[in-house]
Amino acid sequence: MPVENVNKCLHCGLCVGSCPNNAIFLNEVRLEFNEDCTECGLCSRICPVGALTPGGK
Ligand code: SF4
Ligand code: SF4
Repeated sequence: MPVENVNKCLHCGLCVGSCPNNAIFLNEVRLEFNEDCTECGLCSRICPVGALTPGGK
């Protein structure tokens, strides 16, 4: 699953809408990912501030 840099994330929600598997959830504090993530990397590429690093555990 992607790793969120909580210091960079703006909580804009773009990545949430970009995930083809609906594996990203935005709660009040940070993003959460579920097991539906296929490591496609789309969310990392779409984030405007580079807050997601793909392929983390
Ligand atoms: S697209 Fe980037 S800045 Fe926006 S909510 Fe996702 S991780 Fe945060
Ligand atoms: S890597 Fe792909 S499947 Fe996983 S959370 Fe990001 S967009 Fe969704």
